[in-house]
Amino acid sequence: MAVEIPFRREFSFEYGRLEPVAPGVRRIVARNPSPFTFRGTGTYVVGSGEVAVIDPGPDLAEHVEALLAGLSGERITHILITHTHRDHSPAAAALKEATGAPTYGYGPHAGGKRGEPAVEEGADWDFLPDVTVHDGDAIAGNGWRFEAVHTPGHTSNHLCFALADSGILFSGDHVMGWSTSVISPPDGDMTAYMTSLDKLLGRSDAVYWPTHGPTIAEPHAHVRAFIDHRRERESGIIDCLAAGVGHIDGIVERLYVGLDSGLRRAAGRSVQAHLIDLMSRGIVVSDSPPSLDARYRLLRS
Ligand SMILES: [Zn+2]
Repeated sequence: MAVEIPFRREFSFEYGRLEPVAPGVRRIVARNPSPFTFRGTGTYVVGSGEVAVIDPGPDLAEHVEALLAGLSGERITHILITHTHRDHSPAAAALKEATGAPTYGYGPHAGGKRGEPAVEEGADWDFLPDVTVHDGDAIAGNGWRFEAVHTPGHTSNHLCFALADSGILFSGDHVMGWSTSVISPPDGDMTAYMTSLDKLLGRSDAVYWPTHGPTIAEPHAHVRAFIDHRRERESGIIDCLAAGVGHIDGIVERLYVGLDSGLRRAAGRSVQAHLIDLMSRGIVVSDSPPSLDARYRLLRS
């Protein structure tokens, strides 16, 4: 039976308004809805008076202006970045310019090349954090403190941020309620993603606040469903290979029935990510470098 992911898509908000969503946490949603961003990027503000901003969002002047207007009389002291996709980090530049606040992130975008066709929202090649954050680092301000949790997979530089004493994990695009994450090689890495899902199962965060869409109130059940979903996808891919379907296009056709045509590229990248993972485990080989066009087959012992 197919794995059921308990997706959550009820989401109430108003574009351009900084709204309280939990004690000490506010959110403003940017007007950049898409098949990859749900209703848009949710930029979080933590604290009051002297605040941290998580994921300032896309390069959209009206979003930065609305955020600054919502924070009038307060001071942004930290700008935190979960990862370098164009719907998350570009507005950091305008926000830093307006406030002087330093940016915090794992590092610049890695993997792939500037100008390469991208699925999803694409890479932000310009972001360079003022402060490099490693797994387990603490980031503290006036009345709040985060622990950084390195969660590579969606991108190699993805961080989640756990807000101390609140049970809240800001999960970025690593774990979202409304959708699975896009894992797009070369920067997206299925092996790393699965390890990063396991990593969250070893933690006791009570609720996840992703950058897109609503909260996840039963995080471990949700993460387990994602793990099961990927294992199910993986066995579907192995079945395709066993049946002689060795091209990614053919595999997508068989496994993603009824897929929106705008999501086909992302599905192809996801299958490619699984195939690369299977190759690293000695289960699959390809006749050429593991690109979207390569032919793949099972390695029989
Ligand atoms: Zn992303």
